[in-house]
Amino acid sequence: MTEGSIDTRFRVPAWASLLGWLLAIGFMGFYFHIAHALMRGLAPSFGIDAAAIATATFGTVAMGLGIVWLVFIAELPEMWFLHRRPHRLVRDGRCPACGHPVRAAGVERCGECGAEVDRLPPSYAVGWRAVKRFCIAFALAFLIGTVTAEVVIAADERSMQSTVRSLNSKPRGNVPGTPPNLTFARRWPASFSKVEWSAEFGFRPVAIFSYGSGR
Ligand SMILES: [Zn+2]
Repeated sequence: MTEGSIDTRFRVPAWASLLGWLLAIGFMGFYFHIAHALMRGLAPSFGIDAAAIATATFGTVAMGLGIVWLVFIAELPEMWFLHRRPHRLVRDGRCPACGHPVRAAGVERCGECGAEVDRLPPSYAVGWRAVKRFCIAFALAFLIGTVTAEVVIAADERSMQSTVRSLNSKPRGNVPGTPPNLTFARRWPASFSKVEWSAEFGFRPVAIFSYGSGR
């Protein structure tokens, strides 16, 4: 056994690691999804608009800085299983690795799993490995959140287009003149953001910050 390394008997169960990662990436991904959809709703655009997407992405990154701490969820299983739990077990007179009672026996090695009773893992510290994992989890969540938001927005705009198409393809025998102007609300959470359609101009985003400007 090398000095300073954690006894291999102290392990984070695979399900706990997986759960930590899934929760951390899931929470952050959901947040990024909402943030990005809101940002895209604020930036007036319709269709693939690189400038609007870039502006919204910048805003999403800025909003993401507030939730960096959520990546700690991914570290919780390691904090518990490698650091907190062994100390608690020893305090209760149990083997730090498997929880088998050892105090009464007064032994140095656990009779159940063979772990040294006095050998406890060091306290949790944020190491380089943790920082790397943080960055990966954060980047992954950001990617998942923004990409899914873009997919939803694209699908939403396609359904607006098909609504207009089906409206225009209907014979207007007894309704002469141009088809009516339409106003679409974007999908949640950007339902405050509206898109107009008219025969003359096609699809146009409605500016958010110009209420009452005489429209
Ligand atoms: Zn044991």
